[in-house]
Formats: sequence, structure tokens, C-alpha cells
Amino acid sequence: MCYNVQHQLPPQGSGNSPALRTCGSCHAVFYCSQACQEEDWAALHRPECKPASLYWRQKLKAAGVTQRVEQDRLTFLEALANRFLPAPSETGTSRLVELDRSSGGSCERTEGTLVHVFDTAGMRNMLERTNSLKFVQYEHMSISAFLKKYDQEVGESTQARILQCAERVQRHPDSSALVTGMFLASPRVIITICAKMQYNDGAALGQKYRIVSHACCVLTLLDL
Ligand SMILES: [Zn+2]
Ligand SMILES: [Zn+2]
Repeated sequence: MCYNVQHQLPPQGSGNSPALRTCGSCHAVFYCSQACQEEDWAALHRPECKPASLYWRQKLKAAGVTQRVEQDRLTFLEALANRFLPAPSETGTSRLVELDRSSGGSCERTEGTLVHVFDTAGMRNMLERTNSLKFVQYEHMSISAFLKKYDQEVGESTQARILQCAERVQRHPDSSALVTGMFLASPRVIITICAKMQYNDGAALGQKYRIVSHACCVLTLLDL
């Protein structure tokens, strides 16, 4: 688990992940190593660190979302992908061509990476106030539709992270996927986590999808 979008997975059989390093200024992001922390500082984190320390972490803290909670949800998300997602080459294609209706009626086609969304415990139903509760709901959408949908919760720097992950997935559509999970973190807080996963067909069952890096941890406060 590592916030560095350029993080590379070690070869198979690496065992447990190493102790994580948390950014000492904002405490909002964590990395597998000093090298990854430095790489991400140069790529994305430098401008987001201060806003993160002022706003992001406070929000997470107020909602009771600790790093441990975030890691547990990531582990769960990886398990969901292994249980429910077919190989990236079988999910149609990791690229999606969609009609963009916002461009004044002309049928402009935009191509985007596919985002797989697992909604656990019917979060979306709670938001939309319908009654059919299922344990895990699945849907997929294009990256542009995803960002549009979570526009209000996803800040600029998080959006940059998601797009960088999406770009990398698009470069390796047969061996990677963008997977998002929505979880209830407390009775009033939904935590949405987006991760880039690597797919290895030769790995053991249940370990084919592995999280490489994760792009965001976004909170929605339910007003009940
Ligand atoms: Zn790393
Ligand atoms: Zn920081």
C-alpha cells in the first residue's frame, strides 16, 4: 500500500508489506519507502501537502478515519476485486468509448479508462434513499463519468492522482485495473477509496489482483 502513483510492485512472493511511512507534515498520505515518498513529493504531493494538513486530515480525523481504517478498507477492496472481477482482458475492455452528451448534442466520443465500483452495504441506496439493500453492488463507468459523479467530494489534487492512475491503467489495459470501493466508516460517514491494481494471471487464486497504489480516500458525510 502506497500513495505514490509511480510505485512498482515487487515481484511475487514479497510477503507482508513493510512498515508504512506517513507524511510528517499532513499525516494524510503514506508510503512504502522513503524513495516512494520522495518520488511522490516531486510528482504530486508538494502542492497538496499544506491543504491536506489544513483540511483533509482534519476531516478524516473528525470522521474517525485513521490510517488503519483506510488500510483495512484497501485490503477489503483487494479481496472484493479478487472475488468478483474477471481478468481485465475479460471485462470487455479496460477502455470505454462513451457518448458525451454535454457537448451540445453533437455525438462526441471520449475515451476513458474503466472504473470498477464496489458499493458495500448499499451506500448508494442510502444516499439515494431507496430501500433495496444488497450487500455488495457493482457497477462500472468511465473515468470521466466517475469524476463527474464524485465532483463535489473529489478535490483537485485527488483528481490529479486518480487521473495519473487512470493513465497508467490505460497504458497496461490487460494487466491493471482501477477499482473503487465505497464503505461505511461510521454511521454517518461513507469512505470512498480508489486504487490502481495490478493483475497477474499466473498468481494463486485470490491473489491475482494486488493493489499497487491508491489514489484517494474521500469522505461523504451523510446528513441523516
Ligand atoms: Zn511505494
Ligand atoms: Zn504531506
